[in-house]
Amino acid sequence: MSIPSTYDIIVIGAGPAGQKAAVQGTKAGKRVALIERERGIGGSCVYRGTIPSKTLRESALQLDRLRRAGEAFRFSLKPDTQIATLLSRLEDVVQAHDSFMSRQIRRNGISLFHGQARFLSEHTIEMQTVDGAQQQFMADTIVVATGSRPRNPEEIPVDHEHILDSDSLLSMMYIPRSLAVVGGGVIGCEYASIFALLGVEVTLIDRAPHPLQFMDRELVEQFIKGFEQRGGHYLGGQHIEQVRWNEVAHVATKLSDGTIVNSEKMLVALGRQANVDDLNLSAAGIMVSHKGVIPVNQFCQTNVPHIYAVGDMVGAPALASKAMEQGRRAVRHALNLPIGDAASTIPLGIYTIPEMASIGLDEVGARERYRDPLIGRAKFEEIARAQISGAGHGLLKMVADPAGARLLGIQVVGDSATELVHLGQLALQSGATIESFIDNVFNFPTYAEAYRIAALDILGQAAKIRTAKAA
Ligand SMILES: Cc1cc2nc3c(=O)[nH]c(=O)nc-3n(C[C@H](O)[C@H](O)[C@H](O)COP(=O)(O)OP(=O)(O)OC[C@H]3O[C@@H](n4cnc5c(N)ncnc54)[C@H](O)[C@@H]3O)c2cc1C
Repeated sequence: MSIPSTYDIIVIGAGPAGQKAAVQGTKAGKRVALIERERGIGGSCVYRGTIPSKTLRESALQLDRLRRAGEAFRFSLKPDTQIATLLSRLEDVVQAHDSFMSRQIRRNGISLFHGQARFLSEHTIEMQTVDGAQQQFMADTIVVATGSRPRNPEEIPVDHEHILDSDSLLSMMYIPRSLAVVGGGVIGCEYASIFALLGVEVTLIDRAPHPLQFMDRELVEQFIKGFEQRGGHYLGGQHIEQVRWNEVAHVATKLSDGTIVNSEKMLVALGRQANVDDLNLSAAGIMVSHKGVIPVNQFCQTNVPHIYAVGDMVGAPALASKAMEQGRRAVRHALNLPIGDAASTIPLGIYTIPEMASIGLDEVGARERYRDPLIGRAKFEEIARAQISGAGHGLLKMVADPAGARLLGIQVVGDSATELVHLGQLALQSGATIESFIDNVFNFPTYAEAYRIAALDILGQAAKIRTAKAA
């Protein structure tokens, strides 16, 4: 058996979480080994998740803009349009990302190894390469960042040809005429709205009466409205009884109320499961919860204090942004460096069409805590920037305490929502007052003006309450 190579930190998995952990380690002057089983680096974020789905979304939006730019063009997609045509930019985007990340890894002096890693003990990792060679590594600190994969229940026969999951969806050759999407979570809703915009007949099926249960109801209603205007159908309150490819032309889905949905393809989007099975975690004494994720404390420490777990493998929210922050925090904690408290409020960005974003308390959360919070609304129809871009409907909701003084949260649906929310994030973190949105001058025309309009709405309500109390 070979003598183990010794490092200060070993990071397993080169997705967003692992990369940031490794970079943080070398920036602090430590020797870091980064072990990744795939040829490319970037994880599901780059190859199967965030970047491919957002590239397809951008193509769908560009096509829609073309369509709307002039009926005179009579522009429509050919029935046999290949998915690859719409993803033509993907290769460039992935390559640009890949070479940026490779440079970052080289520049920081991280030792990158390709192979499948597993624990031999609480300080030793064994890596097996594709040609079967084995190598051992030892370190004081180990960061596990092996991510997640789609959770496909046994009763749905995912064959990656007719019945697909989010890893295989974009391997479809052609845009289907119809698509059934099972699961009204983030991934299901994003893809459902993208394909609906491409003119596909989409049926979105979920157990709950509304999709995206954790989001503000008013925002979700706007999403469903837009989805249905494009010909999409939402079938809520349904259990899947049976899914079968009929061996000829369509996937037949039988629902609990007896409805049969026939579609050319199906996307199964029923959540994610952590990649823990191949790690031989028991050799290091690392616990796994009954939900199949590794329990961690606020510093991402597992029950074995020098072993950290970060990113998708520790559970929701499964976001690249959260994964990166956890990678950074874990290593800073291991090295006794100051961590900062940025992660107390993580913004949520959902790239449906229209997109949605949220930070801090929403209306329901604020009611639970404050009974009568004030809610300011700015409709995009009132904003010059939205009128100019023809972006259609949108809404920014500002949540304030009952006196209308302090900002508690922001929820946005509509064009640029995922960018717009960051203004609210900074305001929340700095404890901004509602008045401060009035005291500042905003560029005109911008979507950011919505903050001013919503703040004025809150201050108007607060003034009325004061007058009523005084009377
Ligand atoms: C369709 C889709 C759309 C998404 N859209 C967004 C979005 O818009 N915004 C957002 O923030 N997030 C989005 N996400 C989520 C985001 O992709 C994940 O949260 C993020 O990739 C998690 O990062 P990670 O580093 O934890 O895991 P991963 O990115 O999964 O990386 C884990 C890495 O570990 C490697 N690995 C696994 N096991 C081993 C082993 N034993 N040895 C060596 N290497 C191993 C894997 O090969 C992989 O490279 C999306 C996800 C999907 C599926």
